[in-house]
Amino acid sequence: MNDYDLIVVGAGSGGVRAARLAAGHGKKVAVIEGRALGGTCVNVGCVPKKLFVYASQFSEQFATSAGYGWSVGQPSFDWPTLRDNKTAEIERLNGIYQRLLDNAGADVVRGWATLAGPHQVNVALADGGQRQLSADKILLATGGQPFMPAVPGAELAVSSDQMFYLEQLPERAVVVGGGYIAVEFAGILNGLGVATTLVYRGPTLLKAFDHELGERLTDELTAAGIDVRLNSDVVAIHGSGQPTAAELASGEQLPCGLVLYATGRRAATAGLGLEQTGAVLRDNGSLVVDERFATAEPSIHAIGDMIDRLQLTPVAIREAVALIDQLYGSGSAAFSYADIPTAVFSQPELATVGSAEQVAVAEYPQLDVYVTEFKPMLATLGGGHGKIVMKLLVDASSDRVVAAHMLGEHAAETIQGLAIAIKAGASKAHFDATVGIHPSAAEEWVTLRQVTRRYRDGVLAN
Ligand code: NDP
Repeated sequence: MNDYDLIVVGAGSGGVRAARLAAGHGKKVAVIEGRALGGTCVNVGCVPKKLFVYASQFSEQFATSAGYGWSVGQPSFDWPTLRDNKTAEIERLNGIYQRLLDNAGADVVRGWATLAGPHQVNVALADGGQRQLSADKILLATGGQPFMPAVPGAELAVSSDQMFYLEQLPERAVVVGGGYIAVEFAGILNGLGVATTLVYRGPTLLKAFDHELGERLTDELTAAGIDVRLNSDVVAIHGSGQPTAAELASGEQLPCGLVLYATGRRAATAGLGLEQTGAVLRDNGSLVVDERFATAEPSIHAIGDMIDRLQLTPVAIREAVALIDQLYGSGSAAFSYADIPTAVFSQPELATVGSAEQVAVAEYPQLDVYVTEFKPMLATLGGGHGKIVMKLLVDASSDRVVAAHMLGEHAAETIQGLAIAIKAGASKAHFDATVGIHPSAAEEWVTLRQVTRRYRDGVLAN
């Protein structure tokens, strides 16, 4: 007889949802977590990042307000106030997570888990001592951790984890990477008054997104004052205790007091004792699971960032829902990875649902592309460089809208709504028949009449 029906290792977004749902099915559940409850998203990811984005937007808003008649004097910014207010809010959320688990009836075990077999877990308790627990099923949801390439001086650099607790802000920063975290933190630092250089090894930021929008984002970041270096890489970091310069492959030295590596996150599978089980890892350390989230060890399942599908909080939560329904419910809560919307909280925001144009053209050989670009109304009196870019992709053979991409203010809010229409299979005729909300940027989605580019049989036809 095992101690529990289910042991969940990791109290992040996926693990907590799974534990609560399993407890709701009357199962005896333990959740093991060594760090603060809530995982990456709550503690060093989505939530504090968004708070920092809000903070960094004020500098532009102060400037914009002048055209509307406001005079705000000489604004000044105090980093410790933001950092500590943010930390207080995160601690409040940690408490909510504890209460959610307590109220569900799950046992929270504070410590670090190591698998000792298909049904056994050893826990090094946070307050000292050891516990051995057993369960019919074990769910691994330990997430990921920042990956940093080995460059000379890498120990002087920080990852996004440390960005939330910096003692002080530097005057100059170098951000390495061209993905979500790099562009988000480049915008945050720039908005908070840090002279920021973004160094990316490839030709287009946000390579996995629509390339046209990635290129436009580069223009916008540059116009906002970020020094964007494409096709470039940091080969060494100089300094003692603190960085003083980042050296590029070209030999150029970029003086800086902070180097942030945002070069991807890898599955947190090391040290979990997986070798005591039949579970299989990929070369990048992520866990192989089947369509039912089972590892090669049938009693052990895994969800979230550690299975390296889409490293997104809402995806981990949906995986948890599908898994627990399958284990203890009706088994009807299937989860499809198609048409998952996502947003990058760069400044301006970039949000998307469906395939990028460069991908869609292979998926839909008869593709109509609608693109519109305009100055946001706020800028008419407020000034500023930003443009809004919207792109709709339509499968001309069926008239179905297959993707929407947006760069500009409120892109995330806008695309979330469009994702429902696209998931529901809306046609371009549905979009055309929808009445716009005026004046809004979003009304453009339903007034796009002129095809910008046509692909026929996969070839550009105009
Ligand atoms: P990403 O995978 O988005 O980007 C990693 C970047 O680092 C890429 O530009 C990549 O280049 C570059 N890179 C990788 N290895 C090296 C290297 N050795 N040297 C130089 N550059 C390198 O990862 P992030 O770290 O930005 O974020 C991790 C994950 O967290 C994301 O994938 C996302 O799923 C999630 N996340 C989601 C957010 C959201 O929903 N808003 C916000 C933040 C994170 P290349 O493109 O050439 O491979």
